[in-house]
Amino acid sequence: MTEQLLKIAKEAETALADIFADIDAVSMKNTEKVLDAFRAHRVSESHFAPSSGYGYDDKGRDTLDRIYADVFGAEAAFVRHGIASGTHALAIGLYGLLRPGDILYSVADKPYDTLDEVIGTVGEAGRGSLRDFGVDYMQSDLKDGKLNLPEIKANLEACGDRIKVVFVQRSKGYLDRPTLTVAEIGELCRLVHAVSKAFVVVDNCYGEFTETLEPTAVGADMIIGSLIKNPGGGMAESGGYIAGSARAVELAGYRLTAVGVGLEIGASLGQTKSMYRGFFYAPHTVAQALKTAHFAAYVFEALGCEAVPRYSERRSDIIQTLRFGAPEKLIAFCKGIQSGSPVDSFVTPEPWDMPGYNDPVIMAAGTFVGGSSIELSADGPLRPPYTAFLQGGLTYESGKIGILRAAEEILKL
Ligand SMILES: *Cc1c(COP(=O)(O)O)cnc(C)c1O
Repeated sequence: MTEQLLKIAKEAETALADIFADIDAVSMKNTEKVLDAFRAHRVSESHFAPSSGYGYDDKGRDTLDRIYADVFGAEAAFVRHGIASGTHALAIGLYGLLRPGDILYSVADKPYDTLDEVIGTVGEAGRGSLRDFGVDYMQSDLKDGKLNLPEIKANLEACGDRIKVVFVQRSKGYLDRPTLTVAEIGELCRLVHAVSKAFVVVDNCYGEFTETLEPTAVGADMIIGSLIKNPGGGMAESGGYIAGSARAVELAGYRLTAVGVGLEIGASLGQTKSMYRGFFYAPHTVAQALKTAHFAAYVFEALGCEAVPRYSERRSDIIQTLRFGAPEKLIAFCKGIQSGSPVDSFVTPEPWDMPGYNDPVIMAAGTFVGGSSIELSADGPLRPPYTAFLQGGLTYESGKIGILRAAEEILKL
């Protein structure tokens, strides 16, 4: 490690001390909530027993559902290892709520890219998108980085009850816009519920446990996320969850399995324990990822690169973007992150033509769980301004090492 980098790292930790203390306080509060729920539901080893077949009366599965609901301030929830990804969970939620003739109204720019084909705004017709089933799509964009509440109110009043789902993505994801805070989503929920019967559905991916409340605690009817991100705590092997009002979760449950049986079936096949353990770790693991993000922002700002959010800005998700301005820097960055990973550290990431993207994409991921992004990972399209999206870090120590190795690779250029 060069003298220059060691000095920057030291300065970073001094400058970030107050922010790190706040992150620890949020983790403390969320850990307390998780432990309270485990205690209230009397979690014991018997909850980890696998079920097979239909999975009727799987006590571990049903109890974890209750724990998620309690911790997230929701009436009900379900968590299933068989939900294959965040997109799958989001599709379950949307198909569960929307009917022919309804409108899906996205109020914070467009939803995550992988939902385009679910909604039917991209891709050929006839494959069973929401549009194929007669669900229309409408969108409002953020104004100066904030929800455009007057426009949203006017649209809700104009469309009446045809708008069945008001959809909001909490994290900026790959968009060039700020991440929304839980307070901002709460304000949206109050407005929607005052003028309409629509469900407020939140794509909560990357947001869980970054604040002390989730959107369901401030009025959202449904939140949806992935277990290979925040709430899996780096321990869950796969899965997704949906939490929300009793009615919304019941409807999503009918889509998860079949109308009628809903959440009464679904064998846990031995996956329950890692989901419990992951949820136990999640507040702490998210804190590690947040510290890694702040640290990365500080280090790369010191090296002259633009970080969004800035190192000093508070977060409502774990994504850090870094604009490198040159392709070789983005590539070197990913190389350094990869070499700092516990798995596949010897692999050199190369840009490749990923299906569905217009430019080559480079990715760094050396994870225990395939594609997990609560573990330190980075990716970015090879196009100006050569931005890397960085997230995760199971431990701050390993995150810090990964960031410093990435900085070293860039300084070598
Ligand atoms: C990760 C993510 C999703 C879902 O992605 P999958 O790769 O299908 O798990 C959706 N929305 C946001 C904001 C995300 O970050």
